[in-house]
Amino acid sequence: MNQQLLINFVYVLAATLFIFGLKQLSHPSSARRGNLLSALGMLLAIVITLLDKSIVSFEWIAISMVCGALVGGFAARKVAMTSMPELVSLFNGIGGLASSAIAIVALLANPSPFVAAVSVLALLIGNVTFSGSLVAWAKLSEKISGRPLLFSGQKYANALLIVMMLAAAVATVVYPLQPQWLWALVALSLLMGILVVLPIGGADMPVVISLLNSYSGLAACAAGFALENNLLIVAGALVGASGIILTNIMCKAMNRSLSHVLLSGFQDVVKSTLTIEGEIKPMSADDAYYVLDAAQSVLVIPGYGMAVAQAQHAMKELQQVLEKNGAEVVYAIHPVAGRMPGHMNVLLAEADVPYDVLLEMDAVNPRISSFDVAIVIGANDVVNPAAREMVGSPIYGMPVINADLAKNVFVLKRGMATGFAGIDNPLFFKDNCRMIFGDAKQTLTQLTRQFAEQ
Ligand code: NDP
Repeated sequence: MNQQLLINFVYVLAATLFIFGLKQLSHPSSARRGNLLSALGMLLAIVITLLDKSIVSFEWIAISMVCGALVGGFAARKVAMTSMPELVSLFNGIGGLASSAIAIVALLANPSPFVAAVSVLALLIGNVTFSGSLVAWAKLSEKISGRPLLFSGQKYANALLIVMMLAAAVATVVYPLQPQWLWALVALSLLMGILVVLPIGGADMPVVISLLNSYSGLAACAAGFALENNLLIVAGALVGASGIILTNIMCKAMNRSLSHVLLSGFQDVVKSTLTIEGEIKPMSADDAYYVLDAAQSVLVIPGYGMAVAQAQHAMKELQQVLEKNGAEVVYAIHPVAGRMPGHMNVLLAEADVPYDVLLEMDAVNPRISSFDVAIVIGANDVVNPAAREMVGSPIYGMPVINADLAKNVFVLKRGMATGFAGIDNPLFFKDNCRMIFGDAKQTLTQLTRQFAEQ
């Protein structure tokens, strides 16, 4: 078999492993196997690529691989579960940067019109992905506020930037050997990524993150065309397509159109005209016990704070005690609760909470008024009734779990801090809502202890 044929054969094998791996990632029970299959595909792809005769220096490849493996391995081992979304955001960004670097090298090596066009595409998408992902990382890690960051005249600045960027892109394709256009394109596309993500509010970030993930795939796909590498094209297209599917799911979950989120920097801010009425009513865990003891049905609504407190095991223990006491206990899972898709499902699976008591928001909302108690564990934005009641709120129109309609609501959080979207929550001021301040894990443990002691 000639070498090129062998390389292409192994590439097809690797691509098949990626596809089966992705398929298996769609269910928790097969996800580990899916990950291993995809990793095996990647290993095959790397080994066969190293057989390519056009490689001039193995030393640099070896050095980069060792450095990359060390940094990746260290970061993955070290990262706390709550910081995983930030790491994913950085991975997306680095993927975009790598595609952009490949595009520059490919363009300088072969400035033919086709390679120039696909390289410019890879560079543009890669750089927007890189700088946009850095902003997303800064928002997720709370280095900058999750609120929409807008300045006056932003929509005109953005429109001008787009025109300049497209002009630099065309000039780079037409004059690939005049570096000033290339560097102008690099600078403008990096700036574009920043300005597109900065105005997007915290609640809309899930859409942005999945979209950036998709962009990193599209950039790799375009870089694959520039390098004429079939596997990079296929792998990039797979990431691009799966990212778009996830983006679509997130848009539906937020009741947002993609254009609404992406064009945040072009919209005028509508100020909310409603003010929050009522007062905060704190309650101790000891008093909450008596209400829970009498409850026949309890709805648990977990959010990001449960991940911070690592309260899932404590909740499982309280669930068992409540069930023993004769209450029905179910969980309501909002599609964007936490900081990554499926975040709550992962945490609750870790605590062995059975899948059949995890209900989706749409299944819970119609019967929410029948629950005696809704326990909100570190959730804020996903139970914020401003999404229904306050026109002009950044989350207006987003479907939320209507916790305020339950007979009694207990909110477990440490203080009055806002959620990721950075907005106040009228739920906390409603007549049927009691705030149980403190770390969620400690509060839940205390409640379980009360049941044991009575
Ligand atoms: P929020 O971020 O709205 O709120 C979390 C709350 O948890 C805070 O108000 C905080 O209040 C509380 N908290 C923090 N630590 C603890 C603790 N130890 N014990 C008790 N409470 C604690 O979380 P939600 O899950 O409701 O909403 C998720 C938000 O993140 C949405 O806006 C969503 O759009 C966004 N997002 C989601 C992504 C996804 O893919 N799922 C990705 C990116 C963003 P306090 O400090 O007072 O305790």
